[in-house]
Amino acid sequence: MIRSVPAPEDFGVEMMGVPEGATIELDIRLEAVLEGVLITGTARVPLEGECGRCLDPIASTFEADFQELFVYPDTRSGGHADDDELRLEDDLIDLEPVLRDAVLLALPLSPLCRDDCPGLCPECGVRLADAEPDHHHDAADPRWAALRNLTTEGPDNGSAADSSGGGSGRNVSHGPFDQREGKQEG
Ligand SMILES: [Zn+2]
Ligand SMILES: [Zn+2]
Repeated sequence: MIRSVPAPEDFGVEMMGVPEGATIELDIRLEAVLEGVLITGTARVPLEGECGRCLDPIASTFEADFQELFVYPDTRSGGHADDDELRLEDDLIDLEPVLRDAVLLALPLSPLCRDDCPGLCPECGVRLADAEPDHHHDAADPRWAALRNLTTEGPDNGSAADSSGGGSGRNVSHGPFDQREGKQEG
């Protein structure tokens, strides 16, 4: 049995959801079982959201399977009625909570417009998918260049102090300390 229902409000997670009023297609199978009705189905929902990397709008569809048992209201389930049980009320089935569980739990918290979305350039914010393939910024900023020197030629003096003679392959030979140590051999 195929049904179409309009999406309720707030049917989504932060970055992605079903627009209110959009059509949810339900393919439902009902099975009468001893205690009630077992509902098995698939929900196909339209999704709208934003890419978690480039903030591009995303539109897609999503399918979620669900299965839930709705028990008859007068079922004497051993005297202890379970509040978590879903119940048939006046022969009606409220599928909304079932759909919420099935769909919302499966939605990605950080959806992507595509798996390899390159995101935004961290320097200028342009969408890298739109930019030139070799989009980059010359890292000629002297402040960054200075920092880079610090990390490659760091003040690493002394750690090779007791090295056993030549050939331990350290090319960091700026500064007076290194030179002195090098000459002590022989
Ligand atoms: Zn993206
Ligand atoms: Zn850029």
